[in-house]
Amino acid sequence: MNPYITDKSSQKFNESKQFLAGGVASSLRAAMKPVPLFVENASGSRIIDVDGNTYIDYLLAYGPLILGHAHPALIASVNDASQRGIAYGLQHDGEIQLAKRLTQILPCADKVALSGSGTEAVMLALRLARAYNGKRKIVRFHGHYHGWSDSIFTSFPSPDMHTLANKAENLTPPGTEGQSENSLEDIILLPWNDAEALELVLRQQQHEIAAVISEPVMCNSGCLMPKPGYLEHMRALTQELGIVMILDEVITGFRVGLGGAHGRFGLMPDLVTIGKAMGCGIAISGVAGSRELLEQIDQGKVSHLGTLNGNGLATAAALATITELSREEEQYYIKLEQTGTDLASGIRELLALHQIPGVVNQLGPVFHMMFTHEQQVEDFDAFNKRDAAQYSRFAELMLEAGVLVRTSGLWYVSTEHSAVDVRDTLKAVEQS
Ligand code: PMP
Repeated sequence: MNPYITDKSSQKFNESKQFLAGGVASSLRAAMKPVPLFVENASGSRIIDVDGNTYIDYLLAYGPLILGHAHPALIASVNDASQRGIAYGLQHDGEIQLAKRLTQILPCADKVALSGSGTEAVMLALRLARAYNGKRKIVRFHGHYHGWSDSIFTSFPSPDMHTLANKAENLTPPGTEGQSENSLEDIILLPWNDAEALELVLRQQQHEIAAVISEPVMCNSGCLMPKPGYLEHMRALTQELGIVMILDEVITGFRVGLGGAHGRFGLMPDLVTIGKAMGCGIAISGVAGSRELLEQIDQGKVSHLGTLNGNGLATAAALATITELSREEEQYYIKLEQTGTDLASGIRELLALHQIPGVVNQLGPVFHMMFTHEQQVEDFDAFNKRDAAQYSRFAELMLEAGVLVRTSGLWYVSTEHSAVDVRDTLKAVEQS
């Protein structure tokens, strides 16, 4: 095999750093080893870098590309829309069609609002909640990510902060320099999957807590499943105490089922945030939920803004993605589930065969692979015991073997990944 070469990516990264802050457009991307890759082309499950290396892609743009790269149905729809103008700052039928379709497929959606990124969707959801019940505080959880806005962005604290005393205190560390500390004053950070801690804090501070926001599956830290009954308990408690329940479905929306995780689990949150897979690579996001909450926008009580919200390209992309995913004859969700399961179980078998301690947590087409001596990873403490450096090295070796995976261990699968891709990927895993 030829030595793996990324010379042109390195050159371009050096050039980029002169003009583009950080050399990458989103800070996370700088973590890639041996160098942040520069892309020439991408199609289906494959991506080709500027050095001519082809990879089977499980980064999938950090999640959005549920139909793979440049899906023909998406390209046709976006091309068609672009012929009629890209953005108007005026209303158009695509917005109505999309909003209507979303209310049909998302169980909790009486109405929706459209925005551009997951971060913005979360900002709107929090605002709707606070305006609705006039309270200020927001409960969020260790290891979850809800975007990078000042009002919610926190660093991941060390596991030893999980004492009961701290559970009721506000010890939320800012996620970055330059973030106003006041911005996190209203955040209460709790351990996830701990029903007792949640109940204690919600009951104690019910008159101050506006909302609880949670990923339905802790995708950003270990793909951890909710314990049986945990989210149902959250639902019942929030309902009883007049607190808005927000599920952040930016990752799980359209990915673990057309109705998102709340559809899959049979939950009825007050609000969900959606993004990523919604536009399959074109920037679009939204908030969906109960009429009472969303109609605060109709009433002029809550401002919801954004120059490019609901633009023609974005709505065309989202409609095409949803239409394609809904095609029964394709059985896309069965296929996504199968590919995810084949990969996750194949990796588990390889780890066992070579006696490499590790865990793979999977929910359909999203899973987290970790090197760890823990038998199971079911909470954030266990997740923090993984060997992140070893995984990062593994991800680098996977590139050499022709497979692109995220440095953190989170894998995304698309409808375009084939049985051959799975076979080749498992070979690369074994080699790496
Ligand atoms: N919520 C969750 C659960 C996410 O995973 C992300 C992005 N990884 C966001 C919100 C923020 O979305 P965006 O990057 O589009 O702003």
